[in-house]
Amino acid sequence: MALKIYNSLTKQKDTFEPLHKGYVGMYVCGPTVYGPPHLGHARSYVNFDTIYRYLMFSGYKVKYVQNITDVGHLVGDGDDGEDKIMRQAQKEQVDPYEIAYKYENLYFDAMGKLNVLKPSISARATGNIPEIIDMIQKILDKGYGYVTSRGNVYFSVRKFAGYGKLSNRTLDNNLSGERISVADDKREKEDFALWKSSEGGHLMKWNSPWGVGYPGWHIECSTLCKKFLGDTVDIHGGGIDNIFPHHDCEIAQSEIANGKPFVRYFIHNNLITINGTKMGKSLGNFVTLEELFNQFDPMYVRYFILQFSYRSPVDFTNKAIADAGAQYEKIKEVYLKLKEATGSNSKKATDKTLLDIREKFINSMDEDFNTPLAIAELLKLTKFAGSLTDQETLREALGLFDEMAYVLGLKFETLTPKSDDKEDKLLDIISSVRAKLRQEKQYALSDYIRDELAKNGIEVKDKKI
Ligand SMILES: [Zn+2]
Repeated sequence: MALKIYNSLTKQKDTFEPLHKGYVGMYVCGPTVYGPPHLGHARSYVNFDTIYRYLMFSGYKVKYVQNITDVGHLVGDGDDGEDKIMRQAQKEQVDPYEIAYKYENLYFDAMGKLNVLKPSISARATGNIPEIIDMIQKILDKGYGYVTSRGNVYFSVRKFAGYGKLSNRTLDNNLSGERISVADDKREKEDFALWKSSEGGHLMKWNSPWGVGYPGWHIECSTLCKKFLGDTVDIHGGGIDNIFPHHDCEIAQSEIANGKPFVRYFIHNNLITINGTKMGKSLGNFVTLEELFNQFDPMYVRYFILQFSYRSPVDFTNKAIADAGAQYEKIKEVYLKLKEATGSNSKKATDKTLLDIREKFINSMDEDFNTPLAIAELLKLTKFAGSLTDQETLREALGLFDEMAYVLGLKFETLTPKSDDKEDKLLDIISSVRAKLRQEKQYALSDYIRDELAKNGIEVKDKKI
């Protein structure tokens, strides 16, 4: 069976064929780093991490690029409102760069706890301003943008015939969206900003051919896709809330600047609700990952998210996570028993039942990354492994467990730090070498070892011989 992906561009499941055989270029819109990571981030990046893992498991060499939006994402998602990072910097009374770095670090910490792999490339908007300026210039050169007297640069949406093809909006069908008010120096209400003048006292600003300012949010993603993945990207991902205006704007910019189709497969994850209502800071039901991890093992959260297809809405309740956690614990118990019984000595599956489970697991993932069905196979494996006594089959079951755990990104091992044991043993060996040296009165060498250890924060006290 070949991998099928629901493609938001074609609105159907398409068989996956990357541009270059064996290689996948994948781009997922990263976080805007102005606040603590929350449940919405967990959902989106766990989903895309699982897709990334499965592509690698399937034998593809994947280049996974994610951006860090550290400037230019305005409150209204379009051209109005304040810059989200600037606003938070004013609130916390710090430099906007401090805000961006602080929340970027918190984001990666939280993702690490969820066992989300780091992308191959994580690129900040502020680190790629010359490339962004180049791309805007290309759009202007091709006649698809204009500069206003206030130093703003806009994309002329009406000139690009394909605008709205992702969201299925047409120009006469309220294209500018309800949330976007019309900035007064635009020629048309649906035009969107490529570059904004910093005339309002914006602190993060750069020189450009159009005056001092900062890039719009959409152009950042188009630029980073081109820089790291080329003119055409195999997979582009994001939440369904990114479809419009963000991804429709990305398509317009990239297809005009590059003259090639931008994306082969657009993948969008659905959103998460809290006790049946939309999550939002203003609604007071905003769940940060820090709060959640104080209450639940992050693996419960990951397991919970994967119980749903990435395209289904997910409703979060404490009970749902606790139930997911109970199921996860049962799987973990069997896994740890398997490890013990086999001495962690796994092997490839040859047993018929195991092969059958493995095939169904792969078929489930091939069917548009259907993680609920994949988890059903993991539960089948758990049940089967619990009944085994034969050493060879136990080892094969462990091997299959490890494969599935890798794809789903589930960690089953309690982190009793093995490396610490090794470090202790190593220190014992070093100590005994030093003792021998001192017995043989080779004090210079013994002191050298002591001093080197001390430099690395390991203190050694010598007893009198
Ligand atoms: Zn983006």
